[in-house]
Amino acid sequence: MMTRHQFTPPAAKARLDAIGPRNHLPALLRRALEPGEDFAPIPVPGPDDWLLNHPEEGQSFEAFLRSRPHRPDVNRPKVYLQPLGQFIPSESPSLERLKAFASAFFPLEVNALRVLDIAGSGVTQRQNPYSHNRQLLTTDILALLRRQLPRDAYALLGITMDDLYPDPTWNFVFGQASLRERVGVYSFARYHPRFNREAVNDFHRLLLQRSCKVLAHEMSHMFGIQHCIYFHCLMNGSNHLVESDARPMHLCPVDLRKLQESIGFDVVERYRNLLAFNASVQFLEEAEWLRRRLELITGALR
Ligand SMILES: [Zn+2]
Ligand SMILES: [Zn+2]
Repeated sequence: MMTRHQFTPPAAKARLDAIGPRNHLPALLRRALEPGEDFAPIPVPGPDDWLLNHPEEGQSFEAFLRSRPHRPDVNRPKVYLQPLGQFIPSESPSLERLKAFASAFFPLEVNALRVLDIAGSGVTQRQNPYSHNRQLLTTDILALLRRQLPRDAYALLGITMDDLYPDPTWNFVFGQASLRERVGVYSFARYHPRFNREAVNDFHRLLLQRSCKVLAHEMSHMFGIQHCIYFHCLMNGSNHLVESDARPMHLCPVDLRKLQESIGFDVVERYRNLLAFNASVQFLEEAEWLRRRLELITGALR
């Protein structure tokens, strides 16, 4: 039987401590980092959930600083998305929208490269022996991305609708990254409602939302942000689809502070851009959350 671990959600004081001292910060940033009622504590994990199967210590804001993560700079200021294989419009999230989301979430220049054809790319493929779907070998993709890493790229993220495998002995993998080499690849194949035999009306919106979430989660790892054990947060680890669907689309104060420190954006402007994006694609719950947050931060509620 698999070993289960213990996990007790950190108490309120430990959650605040993880955000770190904030008295010296500019007023708007300080307010953006006040949890208030908009950031719930991390839920108590069930037996199949991430934290009972993968023990994690958490990464406070100060631990993040101590880890001396990569950060974008004048030489490497841009993020690139490399679509691999086809993104058929009726079956895939829109690349335009993924790019718009990424540049709102990570306020940097985000470029989408031309779709790379798998045939002739030298990437090994196989048919999964059980499900018989096409799968691409992640190690080959990472090698290809490393060779193509633009000189001004902070990070290059491969995205694909094909399923992935990391090694012939594995059934599949969602994605793989090499943070030090600035490259990663992630598949949205298993977020397609059909893959999970889900009956949903609005599968396009669901697929886009899941794809945006996984893109933001994985790209945040590329900024040195580890899994979150403090709040219910985009950066919580996830063991299955129900758990990842339950994750919020936004960063908790601990992780928002890390990303802000890394990129140096204006928190209000970033939330405004995210609000515009979320409203435009009908992610209504998230848009509402952003509206409330903006009002609190900018003081319009008082
Ligand atoms: Zn993760
Ligand atoms: Zn968090």
